[in-house]
Order: sequence, then C-alpha cells, then structure tokens
Amino acid sequence: MPGSPFLRRSEVHENPPYSTLSELILILLGAPGAAQGTQAERMRDDFDLAYIATGDILRKAVSEGTELGQKAKEYMDNGDLVPDEVIIGVILECVESESAQDGFLLDGFPRSVGQAEALEEAIGRLDRTLMAVLYIEAPDEEIIRRLSGRRTCVKAGHVYNMYTDPPKRDEVCDQDGSRLMQRDDDREATVSKRLGVYHKQTEPLVEYYEERGLLRRFDGTRSPTEVHDHIRASIATLRLEDEL
Ligand SMILES: [Zn+2]
Repeated sequence: MPGSPFLRRSEVHENPPYSTLSELILILLGAPGAAQGTQAERMRDDFDLAYIATGDILRKAVSEGTELGQKAKEYMDNGDLVPDEVIIGVILECVESESAQDGFLLDGFPRSVGQAEALEEAIGRLDRTLMAVLYIEAPDEEIIRRLSGRRTCVKAGHVYNMYTDPPKRDEVCDQDGSRLMQRDDDREATVSKRLGVYHKQTEPLVEYYEERGLLRRFDGTRSPTEVHDHIRASIATLRLEDEL
C-alpha cells in the first residue's frame, strides 16, 4: 500500500537543508521458504544495494580466516551459537565497505529483539539509519506447503517446488536430468520445528519494528513478481517521503 508522499510534510522543517537522497538501509524479514533470496536478488539489481546475507558472510569470514571469522569459528567448533557482538562485527565490516556506501539489504539478521537493538546502536554509531523492514508474510499452511514441497537435484543442488515451481518431468531436474530428492531439512517434522522457531523469534521482531514505524508488510502468498512489484513501489514511496 503506497503511502501518501505528503504524510510527512509537517516534518519538512526538521530535515536539514543539506539532506541528500536518503540511502536505502533495509532489513528483509520473512517466513522460511518465503523466497527471500529471490526478492533480495531482484532488489539488488533494482537499487544497486549491497546484499548482506548473514549466514553466507559468517561462513565466508570463517573460511577467509579474518580476525572475526576466527573468533566465530571457535564458537562454532564448540557447537555454540556465535554471540551477537561477533556477528554484528562481521556485519559492520560489510556495512563499512565500499559496496555498501549507498545502502545495504540485511538478510538473516536480526533474529531477536536483543540483536535488533544491538544492530540499531551499531548502525547509529556510524550515523546511519535503518529505513525500513520489509516483512514477507505467509500463513503456516503456505509455509509448510512450500517447504515440504521443495526438491533439490542430487547433482548440482538446483531447487524446485512440487507445488509452486515443479520440474517439467516428475522428480527429474530440468537442467541436468539428475534425480530430485527431499533434503532432511525439508521433511514435515523438521519443517514444523522450523516453523515453531520462526514464530518464537520473528513475532517479537515484527512487533518491535512496527512500534518504531519501520515495518512494511508484503503478502508472501502472491507470486514473486507481484511481491517484487509491491516492494519496489513501497521503496519508491519511502524515498519520496524522505526527499520532502
Ligand atoms: Zn540439477
């Protein structure tokens, strides 16, 4: 729902006269299987954003053996969760890099209100501000259908969904003809467990960002193209509001 660009007219005088085009600092929040990766990829193309997928970045820091990566590895080797300050350190390294000068899109972090607060503080110290949290919503039965319908090819890991994106031939990869299998992660029991974790972690975050007026909701039951169009329209509105 595009808001009126005039909503913030009363605030115009509060903006410094030298304010330039606001940078896009965004968080992507969504149900497991809500195709966040697809949306992130499209947004990266649209807005030339640095995409910070926390899991990937942490793994990269570990494999490159950076100082923070080594710290993270210690925890992981012991089977412990990597503490927030270490993850935030890794994220900040990305945030301060050249590619993130005009903004960035964060995916996979924060996962709790504590992490959200720590992140806000860390970004604030850099004199930067979170613009919006893009929340892709989907009802439980839709999430279960998407996750349990997922099949991966044994050869190259190409991903299909028996309901939303089926292969041309049943259980065979379109791209390399190899067999499709269901990962343990995607089995019904695991899926309901993931769903439980998602609700426990995400709902407080949704409330947290809603209270701050940062949350933007998107209907994850729509097609990826529709969701993408809505996200684009919403970001365009946010930018307009900021320029006034
Ligand atoms: Zn394949």
